[in-house]
Amino acid sequence: MRTRSLIAAFAAAVVGFAHAAAAQPYPSKPITVIVPFAAGGPTDVVTRLVSEHMSRTLGQQLVVENVGGAGGSTGMTRAAQAAPDGYTIAVGNMGTQSAAPALYANLKYDPAKSFAQVGIVNYTPQAIVAKKDTAAKNLKEFLAYLQANHAKLSYGHAGVGSISYVSGTVFNSKFGLKPGLVAYRGTAPALNDLVGGQIDYMVDQSLNVIPQIKAGTIKVYAVAAPARLESLPDVPTTKELGVDFIFSAWNAMVAPKDTPKEIVAKLADALSKALDDPKIKARYVELGSTAPQGADRGPAALQKLVESEMARITPVLKEALAAAAAAQPAQKK
Ligand code: ASP
Repeated sequence: MRTRSLIAAFAAAVVGFAHAAAAQPYPSKPITVIVPFAAGGPTDVVTRLVSEHMSRTLGQQLVVENVGGAGGSTGMTRAAQAAPDGYTIAVGNMGTQSAAPALYANLKYDPAKSFAQVGIVNYTPQAIVAKKDTAAKNLKEFLAYLQANHAKLSYGHAGVGSISYVSGTVFNSKFGLKPGLVAYRGTAPALNDLVGGQIDYMVDQSLNVIPQIKAGTIKVYAVAAPARLESLPDVPTTKELGVDFIFSAWNAMVAPKDTPKEIVAKLADALSKALDDPKIKARYVELGSTAPQGADRGPAALQKLVESEMARITPVLKEALAAAAAAQPAQKK
């Protein structure tokens, strides 16, 4: 009898505790934000920018954790499998959240089904950049140089499934290039090697390369966008040069699926407030980034974007990979 009442008392205490925990207003402790790439790269930079502001809105610290590897799929897998309690979220991108399923047969998450989407963080066009001492004076000359020398050249990217891998695959196949591919845990370390001259070229988010372009440590040939960037007024676009290669990247915040709707709404609201902050707006312009506006904010818009981008990029990638596989590697001639 005594044991039974003890058990009952214990059970009541557990239930009471659970209620108390549930009643704790969210967030009541720091939130981990997984960035599935190296620190200092595009996803990391934009995540830290909005996280700092979101911490102030939510009254709890957002702590960025860089979990690089496998083109970002290692970190996104960890995010998909985390407890859906709002204390582990992540920022993926067009690569991890759209292209990865076409590249990994055993991907452990489905970008459209394994997450509660929070919202788009930014859009940023890709830029075509090369090491500083590349002699080509413009994009036309650079393409001719690549076509004549690609077998001896190397292309740096952030791992299979990353945006730089996907945009490079499309770019290289479009121009018949088969360079050596060098994978990094993010485009921050890849860019370091481009600055150091260890690799020859990259197609990377303008967000990442603008500071180095401005410092004169790398060369830029074009922004792969329909319009010039305010922060790079002298850099032509592929469109105006008549080169058929336009490639826009994006980063987006997600939580594990089954995260309560109220929590997702709080995160989406805090993200939206960050995007309206004048300092963040000014920094976005400097970094060649655009924030989503109006109906493009929030969970529904991101869900739509993930689904449409998956449908768009899968055939493009498959075609580019098939073309690359069919092309004779120039080295073997
Ligand atoms: N977003 C990656 C990074 O932060 C780069 C990429 O996807 O290409 O390094």
